[in-house]
Amino acid sequence: SKAALFDAENKVKITFEDVAGLDEAKEEVKEIVDFLKNPGKFTKLGGKIPKGALLVGPPGTGKTLLAKAVAGEAAVPFFSLSGSDFVEMFVGVGAARVRDLFKQAKEKAPCIVFIDEIDAIGRSRGRGQLPGANDERENTLNSLLVEMDGFATDSGVIILAATNRPDVLDSALLRPGRFDRQISIDKPDIVGREHIFKVHLKPIKLDPTVDVKKLSAQTPGFAGAEIANVCNEAALIAARRDKKAVDMQDFQDAIDRVIGGLEKKNKIISPEE
Ligand code: ATP
Repeated sequence: SKAALFDAENKVKITFEDVAGLDEAKEEVKEIVDFLKNPGKFTKLGGKIPKGALLVGPPGTGKTLLAKAVAGEAAVPFFSLSGSDFVEMFVGVGAARVRDLFKQAKEKAPCIVFIDEIDAIGRSRGRGQLPGANDERENTLNSLLVEMDGFATDSGVIILAATNRPDVLDSALLRPGRFDRQISIDKPDIVGREHIFKVHLKPIKLDPTVDVKKLSAQTPGFAGAEIANVCNEAALIAARRDKKAVDMQDFQDAIDRVIGGLEKKNKIISPEE
């Protein structure tokens, strides 16, 4: 149903504590939390609160998590949709959904609207496709631009969008008054991975052999999503082996399994890229 697409979570329980590393990005979005909590403080001298910020970074690095944490910290509803939901929609449907979403968001303001994979809607117009094939996506993009321009900066709706392809975005989206802020979210370094491991190891029963520093050293190139995956796989592997706690061997096997999965995925994806 339409309502399900927006998935308004009225009570987001995620906070900044759930987001490991990403210190600079967190500092930047803290400002947005302040805007949501106390808009009057910022507008009283004539300033305009930004309408949107773009979270830029590779898949699985915590963009969605961070956007949810902003809503959680500000204690406001979280509306989300993904650009990929709009691919291959019938004429007029995408634009109507965008209008619907903003209508609901304005009613629930202050709130966060999160648009994942915005590049699927916001690819620069007329780029790299057969003539005609893009029309519906363009309609959707145009309605998004119209909606963004149509609400006041003090309406309490702040739009966070995520992409790993900022280079393909239509420049209209990046103009002042739209997504005029970019926040970059990178893959974690070894220290970042250690912090992320610590978050995801919390619910797991660990054998004393488990060495977080070693795990972080053995997972170069892993994003947060893959680290979360390793921790979960390790717990399942250990359970299958009837162990009382998850040990280093289980983690080693989980890392191998996740690396194997990534290699398969890359094999499938790469011919298209
Ligand atoms: P995509 O671009 O694929 O949508 P994303 O950047 O939005 O990815 P998330 O969906 O936020 O990534 O991350 C997926 C999961 O990975 C999170 O729910 C969380 O469990 C884990 N994760 C990712 N980054 C972090 C992080 N910095 N700290 C803690 N957990 C993380």
